[in-house]
Amino acid sequence: MTAPVTDESARVTSPLTTAVTATADTAGDALQRRGIFTAATLDRCISCGFCLPTCPTYALTKDEKSSPRGRITLMRALETGQLADDDPTLIEEASFCLGCRACEPVCPAGVHYGELIEEWRDHQWRGDQRPLLVRPLMWMVDRTWRYGLAATIRRHALTRRHTDGPHLMLGCFERMLFPRVSRVTRRLRPELDATPIQGCCGALHAHNGELERGRELARELGERLPGTIVTTAGGCAAHLSDVLGRPRVMELSEYLLRQGTPPLTPLLVDGRRARVAIQDSCHLRNGMGVYRESRELIRRVAELVELPHAGTCCGAAGSYSIVRPKDSRRVLAPKLDEIQNAGIDYVVVVNPGCQRQLITGLRRRHSAIRVLHLAELLGMAAE
Ligand code: SF4
Ligand code: SF4
Repeated sequence: MTAPVTDESARVTSPLTTAVTATADTAGDALQRRGIFTAATLDRCISCGFCLPTCPTYALTKDEKSSPRGRITLMRALETGQLADDDPTLIEEASFCLGCRACEPVCPAGVHYGELIEEWRDHQWRGDQRPLLVRPLMWMVDRTWRYGLAATIRRHALTRRHTDGPHLMLGCFERMLFPRVSRVTRRLRPELDATPIQGCCGALHAHNGELERGRELARELGERLPGTIVTTAGGCAAHLSDVLGRPRVMELSEYLLRQGTPPLTPLLVDGRRARVAIQDSCHLRNGMGVYRESRELIRRVAELVELPHAGTCCGAAGSYSIVRPKDSRRVLAPKLDEIQNAGIDYVVVVNPGCQRQLITGLRRRHSAIRVLHLAELLGMAAE
């Protein structure tokens, strides 16, 4: 499998950074900001390179421009006009980045890279520059009626009369692809109100160059679901929390630890405790710092097997597996090796994109390991 880059030399300032900085110094005051990026966020990077070993695309290429620091250098060149909008490196790197935010928790300067990549794509992918394959997806989730009927036929959770509890977010893709997740979640916590009158959270838009529309959709959802929103999708949780504020959003594992679960019976396979690993949701772990909670819950019903790179992106990354299928598979391959070598019965996920990615990858390899959402695993233990 691809090992993380540990070479200390990666942390010295790169030729890319030096070249762009030198041009900026020579040009002096002539370089004007274009207002593409939030200045305080872009200026925060001190080019230390601590983020390089965590970056999955840098691990694939060992090329500075495919690293977080290299991309921030490119963003600065775009911001000051040193590189034009149609520069091929800019176009390639804005798309090659997974947006996984693995570069954030390790950053000593507190750079919010997730904010920068959203602003970059908001500029770079305007109008007809947006990848063709992502456009129909964005069109579909933009209005609830476009996917609502198909999702209802798939029988996601539904409460016809309001309960007194917090609101369960159904998600757009999750309610279509994995409707069982919301059904099992309501079996675990019947007070959750799963009103069907709710739209998409806007994460897909925000990550694919329509930042304001992404925020607008999140605000609309916040109005539809007043009070606490409980989500079963890590990517949606992080976006909602960014727009509505952290106190409004609880990811399922947080909620279950606080409110409790029904009585759980340990899961057995061939007379022994089931061996279960987890694949983290990048945005949930790197954006919200939530990853211990799911492990705590798994330990209650099974033997938790920690994968060495559970916190590294699986390559699903929102629409990435559709827009860049080859790169997505390159990122996924070492993870599948790890899963298959772990001697496990189940791998648990907390995001529908990861669920689809791992199911597809393991099916291609004819693996017997089952992929389950955390709610589904706990649902089995509660039966
Ligand atoms: S993003 Fe953070 S960790 Fe990476 S080079 Fe900049 S300051 Fe260092
Ligand atoms: S978001 Fe992920 S892929 Fe993009 S620069 Fe950061 S670590 Fe690398």
